[in-house]
Amino acid sequence: MTEAERAQNVMRLILTLRSRGVTDPAILRAFETIDRGLFVTGIFADRAYEDTPLPIGCGQTISQPSVVALMTEALEVTPRDKVLEVGTGSGYQAAILSRLARRVYTVERHRPLIAEARALFARLDLHNITAIATDGSFGLPDQAPFDRIIVTAAAEDPPGPLLAQLRPGGIMVVPVGQTDTVQSLIKVRKTEQGYEYEELRPVRFVPLLEGMARD
Ligand code: SAH
Repeated sequence: MTEAERAQNVMRLILTLRSRGVTDPAILRAFETIDRGLFVTGIFADRAYEDTPLPIGCGQTISQPSVVALMTEALEVTPRDKVLEVGTGSGYQAAILSRLARRVYTVERHRPLIAEARALFARLDLHNITAIATDGSFGLPDQAPFDRIIVTAAAEDPPGPLLAQLRPGGIMVVPVGQTDTVQSLIKVRKTEQGYEYEELRPVRFVPLLEGMARD
């Protein structure tokens, strides 16, 4: 694919996102500067600019761009924020967040996915992302608290350790529900008094699993 074709494909994706109601200029700019085509390899590469989830390595999936946009919007990221993402996968969501936040920590239980994502972050000069191979169900205690936490795998409930690692005033976005059924995207706001929950829309994610994968 030539550079001109790439640019054209990215613009096509931006138009799709706009037609699906994404309006935030900073978020659209982030999608413009991060080429999704780099995060999808193999036989699905030619579908990278469609608004659809696609298979990546280790039996996982890269999320649908409009869902990445919606979750990013719900997270209300500011340039001062330290963000934790649980579920690096391809690294695409982390790359989008890195254009909006001060610092992004992203964790993944499949080591090969972390290696690939790190290589892409370096290639794209995204130096404010730290990608770590670890079980994210327990968050990242060493770096807590976080201003924002995004979970891109479905949990049965918003995980307690993650709620605990959210700064007061912080926001967490997490798909909640059983595997293999439709889950609900939940936005949690931590206040001095407790937690406020808002249900955003039905989504479908791979499950949040405990422990490292054996690969
Ligand atoms: N955000 C990704 C999509 C992630 S798919 C992207 O932009 O491409 C969900 C990912 O969560 C999978 O890669 C899966 O391995 C990972 N995951 C599931 N349980 C996890 C856990 N406990 N800790 C860390 N990662 C986990």
